[in-house]
Amino acid sequence: MSGRRYPWDLRPVPWSDQPEFTRGMFEGVVLLSWGIAPRDKLATRRQLRAMGLRPGGQDPVAVLYFRNRAACKKVFANLYLISEAKPVRPMTAARRAALDKALAARRTCRTCGRDVGYYMPTSTRECWECENSEDTEQGAGVAA
Ligand SMILES: [Zn+2]
Repeated sequence: MSGRRYPWDLRPVPWSDQPEFTRGMFEGVVLLSWGIAPRDKLATRRQLRAMGLRPGGQDPVAVLYFRNRAACKKVFANLYLISEAKPVRPMTAARRAALDKALAARRTCRTCGRDVGYYMPTSTRECWECENSEDTEQGAGVAA
């Protein structure tokens, strides 16, 4: 690639009702240079991720280019509308049910089988009564 400059270009953009300065178009989407992308409206996939969001099926609305000094080359990053982004892991009914089940299992003592109403340590999975009673079946072997 040559060091071609992208001229400033005022054009309508998806994130504003007024034309904004851009660096033209790149493969069908608006091209922005470092520093002119509105950080409150646009984000890269990685920035969305840091906010607990994902693009959610939307196409990138702009491409940001900047020079990566470490790699000494021009880098292009897709930018997405923050307003269109979705939470990374929506809590669906199925996920809710799976979570409830997992939590119920953590409250169920593996020795007496009761749901004791509190979360037991994952190492023992025993309620206080069972853990502290000496006469359980498996009680004898281990160093005590
Ligand atoms: Zn128990």
